[in-house]
Amino acid sequence: MKIHEYQGKEILRQFGVPVPRGIAAFTVQEAVEAAQKLGGPVWVVKAQIHAGGRGKGGGVKVAKSIDQVRELAGQILGMQLVTHQTGPQGQKVRRLYIEDGADIQKEYYVSVVTDRATQKVAIIASSEGGMDIEEVAAHTPDKIVKIFVDPLTGLTDAQARQLAEGIGMTGHTVDQAVTLLQNLYRCYMETDASLVEINPLNRDSQGNLIALDAKFNFDSNALFRHPEIVALRDLDEEDPAEIEASKFDLAYISLDGNIGCLVNGAGLAMATMDTIKLFGGEPANFLDVGGGATAEKVTEAFKIMLKNPNVKAILVNIFGGIMRCDVIATGVITACKAVNLNVPLVVRMKGTNEDLGKKMLAESGLPIISADTMAEAAQKVVAAVAGR
Ligand code: ADP
Ligand code: MG
Repeated sequence: MKIHEYQGKEILRQFGVPVPRGIAAFTVQEAVEAAQKLGGPVWVVKAQIHAGGRGKGGGVKVAKSIDQVRELAGQILGMQLVTHQTGPQGQKVRRLYIEDGADIQKEYYVSVVTDRATQKVAIIASSEGGMDIEEVAAHTPDKIVKIFVDPLTGLTDAQARQLAEGIGMTGHTVDQAVTLLQNLYRCYMETDASLVEINPLNRDSQGNLIALDAKFNFDSNALFRHPEIVALRDLDEEDPAEIEASKFDLAYISLDGNIGCLVNGAGLAMATMDTIKLFGGEPANFLDVGGGATAEKVTEAFKIMLKNPNVKAILVNIFGGIMRCDVIATGVITACKAVNLNVPLVVRMKGTNEDLGKKMLAESGLPIISADTMAEAAQKVVAAVAGR
């Protein structure tokens, strides 16, 4: 789960990471009042959307007067902000953050992430912060310093110092960085985050550090113990299909292709997508209906998949273990009838009561294309999309 920058900065503040003063605003009037309260003389008007790259897309602007704050707030609020993370359709700006303008001398990059390979928390830092970190990673990876934290010791003073000096900090800035990085690590651990990124981390002309941006991603599996974080959720920023799916306890992720996939089990769902791609197709979604898929759940899953106008065919790939194939067949038949299925449907079932399930599908009178193996299923669905 992601949150907005202004919400992330409030969390950073609670963990002792310095951030500028700022006030969130939902209207131009609120933005003006926020600016008056902050007092200036320089403000930054910042679009609040979950995607990054707002600065380059025109969603972060400096104002030098209250009138300018009003003008910029009017421009940014309601705009369809397009960044390299939103896709070409962009994201509508519904919230603003009005913040004190910082004295920028040097922009660093810092993030905390879980590194799956070492099974440790990694702290990544670079002297080249700001809006082009992707370029730095691609072309000058030596400008990125990485440290792995031992969960028993936490981020040690020596490691934090090594990071700070590794990105070229000197003098009392290093001491500030040590405290800041340790607070950031504690913040990451205690909030069950999966990513905390500060880009840029600014050094001002006095050598003091301050976080000018904040990006958080939280581990969904740990949200049950953070009601205060769940309360920050902004459904306007989430994919409506994914929200709908979560209501029915379906694990659904929208993708760009045209083959809808309905699978039980996350591993099988991944393998199914791989197989589709192997035969030249593109999945329209990841969908794991879980172990206890009822006819109702399967019907809802079909509805969600078919709402996507790009879907040109559907592949159902089920392993009948605890879930019996005849139950899935009932679900598929009910769903097909309920949603007036109008795209080709390929079904592959294996496992418990397979024969009964297949017989039910065959006798249903529905134009279901059946397949025996995964490869055959993928080939058939790819062919169906191509109209062959
Ligand atoms: P994004 O990463 O989405 O582009 P940022 O919050 O990083 O958004 O803002 C983009 C750029 O705007 C930053 O790299 C920084 O140079 C500048 N900026 C952001 N906040 C402030 C601020 N409070 N004062 C001065 N400049 C800022
Ligand atoms: Mg940024």
